[in-house]
Amino acid sequence: MAQKPSSPKGALAAHRGLLLDAIREAGQVSRAALARKTGLNAATVTLAIRDLLADGLIVETGLAPSTGGKPAVLLALATESRFAVGVHLDHTSITYVAANLSGGVIDRQFSRGGADAGDPQRVVERIAAEITTFVRRAGIDRERLVGIGLVSPGPATSARGIALSSPEMRPWVDFPLVTALATAAGLPVVLGNDATASAIGEYWTGHAKATDVFATVYMGTGIGAGIVMAGRPMIGSSGNAGEVGHTCVVVNGERCWCGADGCLETVAGAAAIVGQARAAGLSPSGEFLDEQFADVARAALRDNPAAVRIFEDAAQYVAVAVQSLANVLDLDRVILTGPSFGIAGALYVPTIRRRLEHAFFARNAHAVEVTMSANATVAAATGAAAMVLQRELAPLPSMSGRVAVVAVGSEPPKRPGPAAPSAHLALAGDHVTG
Ligand SMILES: [Zn+2]
Repeated sequence: MAQKPSSPKGALAAHRGLLLDAIREAGQVSRAALARKTGLNAATVTLAIRDLLADGLIVETGLAPSTGGKPAVLLALATESRFAVGVHLDHTSITYVAANLSGGVIDRQFSRGGADAGDPQRVVERIAAEITTFVRRAGIDRERLVGIGLVSPGPATSARGIALSSPEMRPWVDFPLVTALATAAGLPVVLGNDATASAIGEYWTGHAKATDVFATVYMGTGIGAGIVMAGRPMIGSSGNAGEVGHTCVVVNGERCWCGADGCLETVAGAAAIVGQARAAGLSPSGEFLDEQFADVARAALRDNPAAVRIFEDAAQYVAVAVQSLANVLDLDRVILTGPSFGIAGALYVPTIRRRLEHAFFARNAHAVEVTMSANATVAAATGAAAMVLQRELAPLPSMSGRVAVVAVGSEPPKRPGPAAPSAHLALAGDHVTG
């Protein structure tokens, strides 16, 4: 979808983004086909492609089979020319993913102990140290590393830092997370919401089509949603779009940690499910909430009647929230992702499908496809890496200005080959119009 750029620089960035997306989707493609796919004119495509070739972001891979005239040169992404590290900072764990330019996951690492582990500065120093060893182990040349994407559960309320106000994460409120990590790791940092990142990850790894209007419903210990409309992440006015976990499903219901009543998380979040299991006489094992949730899910998957009932009720509530989301956004697809759905997704999918089949408002116009993510446990970290690559290579207006980014020092990070002016990272607080 062509966007309306507000300046020549904005136009260049928009064209680069459009072309990189089209090349990624096609695998190999000629300039003429790119012009057809993107709606850009041939001269614009030629200029932008020259720029992308000079940056080393794409390569010429050979000639297309001749159809009579001069055979066309095919272009492809230079997949290994840039890398990013995605970090998912969750309550009780940290997941790392290294991704290349096509969103391909090169390596992953899981580390126990997360944001709840105590002093934010010490957690940040640990993340920086773990990134260093992780990148070395993955065999990535640090010169080709464009930055770190850091995602965590919302709400994010500050342009420079983060405000996670669930009870366990109070020490993080107003901690300058982005600056602290950029300083400790010596790399630019992009901050985002884990559910939104999971949707960007699905899009970048090719599990959603460029034209799809889709949402990921993400369940870790909380429940959120990431929304991508025809390739564009929708982040809202403060980066907090998609908080389905805090939509009201029980009027005058129990008070949620967010301060509202009857939120989806109060009846279907991981803590609610573990609480209901205990009340039903089960004793979920595990030190951490995610382990206890997994234990109740395994009991349900083994047909323990009490656990089955708990998940049947929870799935109804999740299905109601998904129906609202689908109605408001007229979704084509819903992808369930995140570690909790990675374990328990099968307990939810049939209920959500049934509800959408009979209750989705536009059901006579089209169906809403409900699927499980192929990479539910690392979806948020993969999306975090994709956010950095997206921001670096093809900044979208919807991701600019609202997402906190801090580059280290006044120089842009070193990278192989000349850097295009449009590829510079914006400093936190920069607002890009467009
Ligand atoms: Zn709430």
